Amino acid sequence: PNTQPRDAKPRLLLMGLRRSGKSSIASVVFHKMPPNETLFLESTTRIQKDSIHSFMDFQVWDFPGQLEYLEPSFDLEDIFGSLGALVWVIDAQDDYLDSVARLNRTILTVQQYYPGINIEVFIHKVDGLSDEYRQDTFQDIVQRISDELSDAGYENAPVHYYLTSIYDYSVFEAFSKVIQKLIPNLSTLENLINTLANNCGFEKTYLFDVLSKIYIASDTRPVDMACYEMCSDYIDVIVDISELYSWDHSLRKPKGDQVQEAESHVVLHDETMIHLMEMNKYLCLVSVIRNPEAKEKKGLIDMNCRTFQDALNDVFSRSWEQEQEERAAAAA
Ligand code: GDP
Repeated sequence: PNTQPRDAKPRLLLMGLRRSGKSSIASVVFHKMPPNETLFLESTTRIQKDSIHSFMDFQVWDFPGQLEYLEPSFDLEDIFGSLGALVWVIDAQDDYLDSVARLNRTILTVQQYYPGINIEVFIHKVDGLSDEYRQDTFQDIVQRISDELSDAGYENAPVHYYLTSIYDYSVFEAFSKVIQKLIPNLSTLENLINTLANNCGFEKTYLFDVLSKIYIASDTRPVDMACYEMCSDYIDVIVDISELYSWDHSLRKPKGDQVQEAESHVVLHDETMIHLMEMNKYLCLVSVIRNPEAKEKKGLIDMNCRTFQDALNDVFSRSWEQEQEERAAAAA
């Protein structure tokens, strides 16, 4: 294997048949395109590399569905060599047998050479399906894939399944899960967030990537979709306001010096507080607090979030150092 790191960015690959929804997913999640506008997207016909300048710099390669990447003319190392995860999109509203067959072939090929790759299957466009049909489709696809893989002697393949749609938050939730697996020190981050949330009585806390609204970590209490939606919408509000008032659109640059780390909160009609604090250029911490006394304790909440921020940046700089050392060792 090639020990030379070709590319330090963890790479994420989006694959699937034509019209399965790959470009739509990339556009909605990473470029803030409203879901309805994807109706007018041109279907992908070539490999599109789309670098996402987020805190991790992951990449989405949008593969044209019909492309025979398993042919010898394609350099497997080039495609799968530094891959973190392969996201396979299946159109659940269409006949999916062909897609499933291709996915199985892909898994069997790829795992021989790169057994560490996470295979993430998005059973997509489920907005058009009834609840019952959705579950049946899910079961059927999982069954077909695991049967065929175990027939081929491949048990316990690292394949995970998600029901997704660009018309709700499910695709963000699925991407969050996919990305979290690629984050070094995730459990350290989760422990830090748990400590913060417990100490401050937060109902739920997310560490968001501002640009994509993917959350890269959260406290380990069960995820509540309503909380996630509230926090995610709040980021939009804050981003819109700061763009409206502090961004010079004609010159494409900020108007004057910016506050280093924005902090903002809102108290809703039922006294729920949403608290947001920027952690660094890419990340912000958003918490839902259902304690009527939170208003009076704002100073304390801010202070605890700042302490968390220091710890967070510590974790990141340490994992960066580790990476440098490992790389130096590999080169030696
Ligand atoms: P690609 O060829 O895989 O890149 O597919 P596109 O992104 O071009 O999508 C094909 C069509 O599927 C477009 O008309 C999209 O609007 C539609 N589409 C994508 N995602 C969804 C979804 O979650 N639900 C529904 N109902 N339609 C979707």
